[in-house]
Amino acid sequence: MTAPAGHFGDHTSDEANCPIMGNYGPPPRMLVEGSGAELRDQQGRRYIDFLCGLAVTSLGHAHPAVTRAVADQAAKLTHVSNLFANEHQGPVAETISNLIGAGPGQVLFQNSGAESIEAAIKLARKFQGRGRHVVVSAFRSFHGRTLAALAATGQPEKHEPFQPLPEGFRHVVWNDPDELERALGPEVGAVLLEPIQGEGGVNPADDSYLVAVRRLCDERGILLMFDEIQTGFGRTGDWFAFQHAGVLPDIVAFAKAVANGMPVGGIWARTDVAAAFKPGDHGSTYAGQPLALAAARATLDTMIEMDAPAVVGAKGALLASLLDTLPGVDSVRGRGLLMAAEMSPDALHGRTGPEIARACLDRGLIVNGITPTALRLAPPYIISDAQLQEGVSIIGSVLEDN
Ligand SMILES: *Cc1c(COP(=O)(O)O)cnc(C)c1O
Repeated sequence: MTAPAGHFGDHTSDEANCPIMGNYGPPPRMLVEGSGAELRDQQGRRYIDFLCGLAVTSLGHAHPAVTRAVADQAAKLTHVSNLFANEHQGPVAETISNLIGAGPGQVLFQNSGAESIEAAIKLARKFQGRGRHVVVSAFRSFHGRTLAALAATGQPEKHEPFQPLPEGFRHVVWNDPDELERALGPEVGAVLLEPIQGEGGVNPADDSYLVAVRRLCDERGILLMFDEIQTGFGRTGDWFAFQHAGVLPDIVAFAKAVANGMPVGGIWARTDVAAAFKPGDHGSTYAGQPLALAAARATLDTMIEMDAPAVVGAKGALLASLLDTLPGVDSVRGRGLLMAAEMSPDALHGRTGPEIARACLDRGLIVNGITPTALRLAPPYIISDAQLQEGVSIIGSVLEDN
C-alpha cells in the first residue's frame, strides 16, 4: 500500500491522482490528534480549536468520559439493528425530551443532520396528509445536502446544479412575520426554522419573530419545526436556542453536538405528532446503534453535570468582550459560544473572511470564514480563558497585519 496520492498525502494538489473526490476542495492540513480545545497536525504543529468540527466536539477532543464510553461499548456490543432494543436508546431519548422541555414527546434516532431533516419532513407530511405537504423555510437557511433537505435550504444557488428538486418547498425572507404569514396557504403543513441561522452567517431570529411564528402556526394548525442541529445542546447558552424565545416546538431536529463527534442525529416530536409514524414508514440501519448512543449518553451526562448552558453563557460573554476590544472587529453577533465577528473593511484590506481564517490557521488558530466579511466562532465549552484569549489575539494579529 502506498501513501494516498495528492493533497491528502503531502498537501500538494494532485487532484486527479487523489483517491478522495474533490468536493470539499484541497484540505489545508492533515490533523492527527486532539485534546480538549487543541489539535495537532501531521507535523506536530499545535492549533487552538475555535470551530469544533462545525459545532460538533463541544466537550473538546478526546473527552475522557466519551472516550471511555466508546471504548467500553466497542468491546461489548457495536450494532444490533433496529430489530432489537439496546440499552442506551431509552435513557438518551428520555434525556433529550427532558432537555427540550416542551411536554410529552418521543425521539427517533438518525445518523446525521440531513437525515434528521428528512425524517422531520416525512413525519410532517405523514401527520398533515396529502395536500398539506408544503414546508416553508427561510432564505439563507441551511438544512443539509440530501435532496429534500437541500430543497428546504434557502440558498437558490445551491439548488441550481441539482434541479429538479423534490417539490413542496417554499422560502420566505428571514425574521419577518408578515412575509411568513403571506406564504401560509392551506397547502402548508409545516414551518422549518433555525432559531439562529448557522451556515447562513450566524443570524439570530428576534424572540418576537419566533413568538409570532408560533402564533401563526397555532392559528392554522401548522407544525413548527426547529432545526437545532447546530444550535442544540447548550451551544447558545440554553439547552436549545428556541428556549431563549420561550416558544414551544412541535418537532425538533438535532445532531452535531449530541454525541461529541460520533455520528448521531434525530428528531423529537410531540407525542401526538410522533404517533403518525407507523412501523415501516421510516428507518435507518445504523440509527440509534449502541456504539454511537454510548457516546451520546456520556456526552449528555457530562453536559448536564457541568451545567453546559451556564458554562457557555460565561465563556460566551468573555469571548464577546475579547472580540469587542479588537480594533478590526466592527460587531459581534450570535449567542453563547456560537458567534460571528464582522470585520471592518480597513482590517480586511481586500482580504475575504476565508482568507483571514486561512491566515489564522497559519498562526495556530482554527476558525471559519463564514461570509466574505465575517468569521464564525464555535469553541468548545471546556476551553480555558487563557485559550480564548490566545485565540482572539491571533485573530487580532492577523487583522493588524494588512
Ligand atoms: C450541519 C447542519 C445540517 C446538516 O447536518 P449534516 O450532519 O451535515 O447532514 C442541517 N441543519 C443545520 C442547521 C446544520 O448546521
